[in-house]
Amino acid sequence: MVLISTDLMKSTKFLSLLFLIISFHSSAQNLKALVGGTLIDGFGGTPIRNSVIIVEGERIKAVGQVGSLEIPAGAEIISTEGMSVLPGLWDMHVHLMINGHSDYAHWDSTYIDLFEPVIMPSSAHQLLMAGVTSARDLGAPLEASINVRDRINRGEIPGPTIYVSGPFIQKKPYPGTEAFRWGVNGPADARAKVKKLADAGVDVIKLIDQDQMTLEEAQAVVDEAHKYGLPVVGHSHRPDEIRVGLKIGVDCFEHTGLSSAPEYPEDIMQLLKERAAKMNLGPIFWTPTVEGLYNYEYVRDNPEKLDDPSWHLGLPDSIIRDIQASLRYPGRMSYFQLTPVRKPTLERKFNQLRESGAVLLIGTDSGIPMKFHSQSTWNELDVWVNHFGMDPLLTIKAATYWPAVAMKVDKDYGTISEGKYADIIAVRGDVLRYINLLQDVDMVMKHGRKVK
Ligand SMILES: [Zn+2]
Repeated sequence: MVLISTDLMKSTKFLSLLFLIISFHSSAQNLKALVGGTLIDGFGGTPIRNSVIIVEGERIKAVGQVGSLEIPAGAEIISTEGMSVLPGLWDMHVHLMINGHSDYAHWDSTYIDLFEPVIMPSSAHQLLMAGVTSARDLGAPLEASINVRDRINRGEIPGPTIYVSGPFIQKKPYPGTEAFRWGVNGPADARAKVKKLADAGVDVIKLIDQDQMTLEEAQAVVDEAHKYGLPVVGHSHRPDEIRVGLKIGVDCFEHTGLSSAPEYPEDIMQLLKERAAKMNLGPIFWTPTVEGLYNYEYVRDNPEKLDDPSWHLGLPDSIIRDIQASLRYPGRMSYFQLTPVRKPTLERKFNQLRESGAVLLIGTDSGIPMKFHSQSTWNELDVWVNHFGMDPLLTIKAATYWPAVAMKVDKDYGTISEGKYADIIAVRGDVLRYINLLQDVDMVMKHGRKVK
């Protein structure tokens, strides 16, 4: 204890010195206080009015309310009055290596050398500006995936915290796609390919066409991945992809598949319900990625949104012009011809998945034709809430809390609570009433740093 004479305490010199010490101390601690907004913390419970979030360095130090949680002296005050405040969004299914171009064969052969230095960083930056602070990139060349992820995580380039699969694991790569699709030939080869990905440091294994593999090959992929603690995501386009995926222990399914079939067959629903009941295995996750399909006809008939310059960020003019030219006739793309037939089936399948007990995650397939990283994620939330009638609080939970659990990083990410990284977004207005306010996020904070 330091004894200070009353005379000294009274002196203004002392007070200003004390103030200096406090503010130096605070700025050294890098304290910020987000004050006033309505907090939706990601857990799915009642929002907290007049919230206060104290951020120290990269992490959240305290969460409370105006009047009861004291704001430390010297903290930088960021007003969130009139805003909804929520955890940074996750997008669990993005494709950083593509950006809306309609011709994959042309894109891959023309730009593959630019994936790592230009295109993937540009996609990542666009996601971050859209309020996406964590993203799972499913399918790209291995070295580019690892390098882009690590450059972002080291703070060298802007972007969400990225989780990568590197190349798809499948029975046989389509010609010309060998850089990001690895075939497997026998169980030993399957194990070797997964080991190579694990050794390189991927975060997740992406499995597709598992129904075209032998069961031994498909099982080897999952067993080897789990040996390294890596979750496996599996495509679900065909009924047998789902049946095999459930048998071999896939952790998360992708897409709302079966093309134009009206619903999932009864045996698959039964298998899913049985899997969901196995609590010792943890939840079975599913990323339906509906918005690209659901909104196709709207975008085709109202193409103004294709002109939104938000998707130009980080791209050279020549590539922007190439993408624009490829989208000149939105109604003629073979990619989407079946979509009007599929669209009416999406809601039924989405509801079946909800009823099955699977935990649904927000993901978009962003990067596919006409789907830009700057716009995809909020559109997925919009379809869930405004077209499928999903509770907005639970929809936000599917974009925050659950993805962090699925990627086993919920100790550090996914909610606004003490000790976690300060990944926080804020948007003027009430997102629980108008979820599509998320199309223009006013503030984005990643790891305690305001990036927008
Ligand atoms: Zn995809």
